[in-house]
Order: sequence, then structure tokens, then C-alpha cells
Amino acid sequence: MNTSLFSTFLIKYAEIGIKGDNRYLFEDALVAHINAAMKTIPGRYLTRKTPGRIILECEDGRDGGKYDFDKVVEKLSHIFGIAHICPVIVTENEGEEFLRERCVSYWKDMYGEDASGTFKVFCRRSNKGYPLNSMEVAADVGEAVINAFPGMKVDVRTPERSLHVEIRDKFYIYSETIPGPGGMPVGTNGKGMLLLSGGIDSPVAGYMISKRGVSIDAVYFNAPPYTSERAKQKVIDLAKIISAYTGPIRLHIINFTDIQLAIYEKCPHDELTIIMRRYMMRIAEHLAYESGCHGLVTGESVGQVASQTFSSLVCTNEVCTLPVLRPLIAFDKQEIVEISEKIGTYETSILPYEDCCTIFVAKHPVTNPSRNVIQKHEHNLDDVIDDLLAKAYESDEIVEIGR
Ligand code: ATP
Ligand code: MG
Repeated sequence: MNTSLFSTFLIKYAEIGIKGDNRYLFEDALVAHINAAMKTIPGRYLTRKTPGRIILECEDGRDGGKYDFDKVVEKLSHIFGIAHICPVIVTENEGEEFLRERCVSYWKDMYGEDASGTFKVFCRRSNKGYPLNSMEVAADVGEAVINAFPGMKVDVRTPERSLHVEIRDKFYIYSETIPGPGGMPVGTNGKGMLLLSGGIDSPVAGYMISKRGVSIDAVYFNAPPYTSERAKQKVIDLAKIISAYTGPIRLHIINFTDIQLAIYEKCPHDELTIIMRRYMMRIAEHLAYESGCHGLVTGESVGQVASQTFSSLVCTNEVCTLPVLRPLIAFDKQEIVEISEKIGTYETSILPYEDCCTIFVAKHPVTNPSRNVIQKHEHNLDDVIDDLLAKAYESDEIVEIGR
């Protein structure tokens, strides 16, 4: 693609389109996210809404910072809510002949003087005052292209290229479409507290839930000195990677060592993981309430490990009153790995640093825990747990990611 032709993008959104009276809220959120993203790269940018689309105009900054096509596309392709990114030529609405000429010169600039192959013209006319209807515009422009490029043929069923003409306040001409990430603008669907470990699953869970418009805070439980600074840094790095999609994340790092040691000392070892996970959920819920989150988010997938059998999940869940969202619940590991590769977390996730869960792990953890039995054994902690929880909350180290 000859990217130097373009200084404007026509941005299409998918699901926002079906929201009734609230539609403007979603559009405004999307515009705000685009504006925030553009502030992070050189150049000057102007967004405006037009029915069903957002137009982004780009130019070099007054400070000398150059607008860069690839950087803009890179930013836009991380913004949930965007279905398609179309580099577009915009001209004044100066009548049919002018439109024909502009389309022909566009085609030449894009595909060369001897462009060949099949194409189809798609017209969308939201300016109802325009003298031709969509079908007539498509026929008119199609004929002009055929006349100018003898090698081009119309194929209305399976065209190799599509020439799009949108007649609005101005003429918008484009033929290339870059996929956006889909989903809903982050923040239009509340906030969740993500339990973020250094593994493969939880960063993917954070990505997926924020794709549905949920913004996230996160909590990581570490267990120094059993877990290292490198393990902690790995989690910070993962949060940074997903924040390109999720937006800013407030990451809480909680020292979980003493709680783990107490569980290890006082509870049956085959129940360690499940009891530990119940305490993680309790602490995460406390942080969630404090920070206005609507629920918890984990990377659990049913049956993946002993602590994620259906009955283990029931047992972990019962300690929370907030809903626990598990976007990966029915995903196979391989499917999760594929998403983590796509979003760029995989290489970091597989770095071999210890996790607090793997250090105090039993050889044969229960897979079908009884809630009564677990509750009974948790009472072994009654003397110490309030103090330990208070200490854990005090240890909270907050890292602001992506702000
Ligand atoms: P992951 O790949 O996300 O680490 P996992 O398959 O290793 O997941 P578990 O270790 O059983 O599974 O953890 C299940 C979920 O519990 C994780 O996806 C995450 O949401 C949460 N979790 C586990 N360990 C931690 C931790 N140290 N800090 C925060 N959350 C955790
Ligand atoms: Mg893990």
C-alpha cells in the first residue's frame, strides 16, 4: 500500500452500532481512547464523529514531530471498539465528474497506471441531497475506472479489490481495510479486579475481559523470599504488555508469604492450594471493593489443574460475594496459548520464574474438595489470620502501569 497518500483514517466500529439511545456514550468513549492514544505519538490529530464512523485527521506537529502512518495504525489496532481501520482520501463534494476523476487518480496512485484485475465499487450515501443514488454512483465510478484502466474488470461476486466511496459532508474514498481488535471501548462496562499471576492464562483473561469494555485493576500475590524480584518484574512486564489494550492498570502487589506459611503449617497439605486460592480471592475482593470494581477476573479454565476442577472452583468461589468472571472458563490450553502469542504476552509468560502457588504445592492436591471439610480446616488459622490479613493489606505496593 502506498501509505504516503493518507493523512486521514475512517474508523468503523462494530457492536457499538447496535446500542440504542446510549450509542453516543460508546462513541464518545471510543473517541476519548483514540485521542489518548494519539497523544502518545508524534504529530497532531483531530477526531470527529460522523454518522456510524469516526474520522481521524493526522498532520505533523507544530513541534516538528512527524505524523507516521504505521505508528497510527499500530495504536488504533490496540483500541477495543474499533472493527476496521480504513486509510481514506477526503475531498470536497464537488459533483459527479470531480468524484470520478478523484477515484481514477486514487486508483492510479494506489495500484499504478496499468492496474489490472477485478474490482467492485461500493457506495454509501449518507448525504441524501446528493443527485445520484448509491447504485448510480457505483455504476458511474465503476465505468470511469474501467475506462481509465483497460486491465480492470468488474466482478460483483468475488472482486479482488473493493473501491469504497462514501458520500457525506465530503467525499471519502478508500479501498484497503486494516482489521481492528473488535470489542467494546474499555471503561464502558465497569471495572474488574484481575488476579494476575506470571502465567500464560491470567494476562489473556485480562485482555479478553477488557475487550468487552471492562477496565481493569490487578493484584499479584508474591511470596518473598520464596519468589524473586524477577518473578515480580515479570508480572509488571505482563501488565505493561496488556495495558496497550486494556488502558492504564493499577497493579497491587501483595506480600502473601506469611499467609502461605501459616496455611502450610496448620492445614492438610493436599488442601494447600485450594485454601491458598480462597485467601487470594478474599484479599482480591477486599481490594476490589476498595477500588470500586464490580467483580473479580481470573485466568481459570475448568479442569485445567486440580484447583480448577468444577468442584474446586465452587469451593474457591464461595468466599466471594462479588461475581468472579472467568473469560477462559471453556478454553483449551492451546487456544489460550494462541491468544497469548497474538497479544504478545507468551514469551514473557513462559520465562521460568517461580510462582508462589508452585512453591507450596502438594504432591496430590484434592480435586474434589468438600466445602465443609475445607471450612473446618480453615478454622485452624483462626488465631492468626486476622493479623496476617491486616499485614498483607499493609504490604500493598501499588504500581501504576500505563499512566
Ligand atoms: P496462570 O497461567 O494465569 O498463572 P494457571 O493455569 O497457572 O494460571 P493457577 O496457578 O491455578 O492457574 O491460577 C489460576 C488463576 O488464579 C490465575 O489465572 C490467576 O487469575 C490467579 N492466580 C494464581 N496465582 C496468582 C498469583 N500469584 N497472583 C495473582 N493471581 C494469581
Ligand atoms: Mg499460575
